[in-house]
Amino acid sequence: MPRYTDDSKERVRDAVDMVALVGAKTDLRKAGPASYQGLCPFHDERTPSFGIDPVKKVYHCFGCGAGGDAFTFVEETEGLDFAGALEFLADRFGVQLEVADEDPQAAQRRARRERLLTLLDRTAAFYARVLWDADEAAGARAYLLDRGLDEPALRAFRVGYSPKAWDTVLMASRRAGFSEDELQAAGLAQRSRDRPGQIFDRFRGRIMFPLTDLRGRTLGFGARALRDDQQPKYLNSSDGEVYHKGRQLFGADLARSAAAKAGRVVVVEGYTDVLALHQAGIENVVGLMGTAMTEEQVAALARLSGVDGVVDLALDADAAGQEAMLRAAWVARGQRLELRVVPLPPGTDPAELVTVEGADAVRSRMAGSVPFARFRVDTILARDDLGTPEGRDRAYAELRGVLSALPPAPSRDELVRKVASRLGLSEQLVALLVQAPGRGEAPAAARPAGADGGASRPAAPPPRRAPDVLDKRQQTERTFLALCIAMPDLGRDALRRVDLERHFTSPVARRAAAHLREHLASPTEGLPEGDPELSELVVELAVRAGQGPFEATALELETLQLELARLEREIAAARAEGRPGVAALAAERTAVQAKVDVAVDEVSTRPPREP
Ligand code: ZN
Repeated sequence: MPRYTDDSKERVRDAVDMVALVGAKTDLRKAGPASYQGLCPFHDERTPSFGIDPVKKVYHCFGCGAGGDAFTFVEETEGLDFAGALEFLADRFGVQLEVADEDPQAAQRRARRERLLTLLDRTAAFYARVLWDADEAAGARAYLLDRGLDEPALRAFRVGYSPKAWDTVLMASRRAGFSEDELQAAGLAQRSRDRPGQIFDRFRGRIMFPLTDLRGRTLGFGARALRDDQQPKYLNSSDGEVYHKGRQLFGADLARSAAAKAGRVVVVEGYTDVLALHQAGIENVVGLMGTAMTEEQVAALARLSGVDGVVDLALDADAAGQEAMLRAAWVARGQRLELRVVPLPPGTDPAELVTVEGADAVRSRMAGSVPFARFRVDTILARDDLGTPEGRDRAYAELRGVLSALPPAPSRDELVRKVASRLGLSEQLVALLVQAPGRGEAPAAARPAGADGGASRPAAPPPRRAPDVLDKRQQTERTFLALCIAMPDLGRDALRRVDLERHFTSPVARRAAAHLREHLASPTEGLPEGDPELSELVVELAVRAGQGPFEATALELETLQLELARLEREIAAARAEGRPGVAALAAERTAVQAKVDVAVDEVSTRPPREP
């Protein structure tokens, strides 16, 4: 975002018509020479306690205390930052913004970007005209209307259709003075592989969904195939100068104002889900567009829903949807966001639900979202391998990961009781559920902040030995890996120092460690296809890593435990084979054990962190 001159800001302030600006959000009535009143757009009320001064261009609410000027009004109601609000108001009231101290190169880049945005905007308008007017788009219109989408919603999102011909956009854009280079940079045309020098339209015979930024400017397109033989089914703009995959949320510009007002935003998977919910009156809805949630998207969600906002995930309940939710929880860690899940019947998406159940039923489903932790617990308890001891062990380990991350609260107790009764747990295992997984005696530093209720020590020290739920060695290996993810700077070193063959006992943990050596910063990316066991473990580790804060000592301790376990295995093997050198190994083990004892003391005598 460029820096604008102070003069520009003043000209925008002068140009704002406060009555028109605020009047678009709430009905205003003249109440005095310099005063209008209305119902507050920031809180629910029946009698007006909200007023504006159109001369000073300020607003104030006596009910909730909201107040400010035109810029803060736009920031609050549209979910924009200051620069965004400035651009919004400049657009709205026709002020040309001037950029401060721009060097010629930056000015050139900005001018080029503006041209590409103009080209994309013209093309979106063209595709929309084709959808509604062209004979060849009849199939596309029928497809969309059959899905229960209506014309106003389709027009609001500027849904369009790209003609089948090879060069429609190419010819039209050339005539309007755009170069082939600009068409390629905007992701609208591509070069032929077979015929050098030939260039053709990227999108042909597809339903076009414009992908926009928060201000509604088209940055690229998502395109859906209409015929079965068209591959791929979904084609996006390629990454270019304007469009970057994974940065946008579909429909964010249209969701912005409703999301800011509600303090929450609904996340769905596809384009038609966004349209269907929007049409059903749920306007604070955005689409992931089939990609795994990225850090940028989480940041965008946080901006949309505001500080301490709520994000409702309304994703398919299938395996891919589950993984998407775990991934979302992982990337959202540390953000001031409340993650909730809208339970959907398996195999259905929100668009189908609107058609089948109607708008009211879907609205009440959305309102019935449950906290992410409760959803995870229910999902794990619903697995069909709970009949086997191994299945129960796995479930227990995962549930511990979920529950130990929660602060003490009646809702947590309720989940604990549910888990205890479903898995038939002993009292000892129940008590351990809310302690951080690890080696049984969770180091204080690894427990969630405030879990002990302030600075007081727990009344009874946690048991020293881990229960044999997951193999103790495996627990150590997993905790080590989770801590590496949680503290990537230290983790990178620690991972380099371990020996995959000698320090890890299970093949999947070895594969996970090898994967993390390459992908520590974003562990859930770059996972190989066809290794679900590895993906599951990495996602679980990533989620656990998000349950910090952790301290460096915890990682040191876990590294020492790995080393200790290795020595014990080698001692046992040497004894079994009658090899010499047992004494040397035993001496090494004693030395490592001493370091472990020091480290344990250090982490367990430190007071818990302040929340
Ligand atoms: Zn108010």
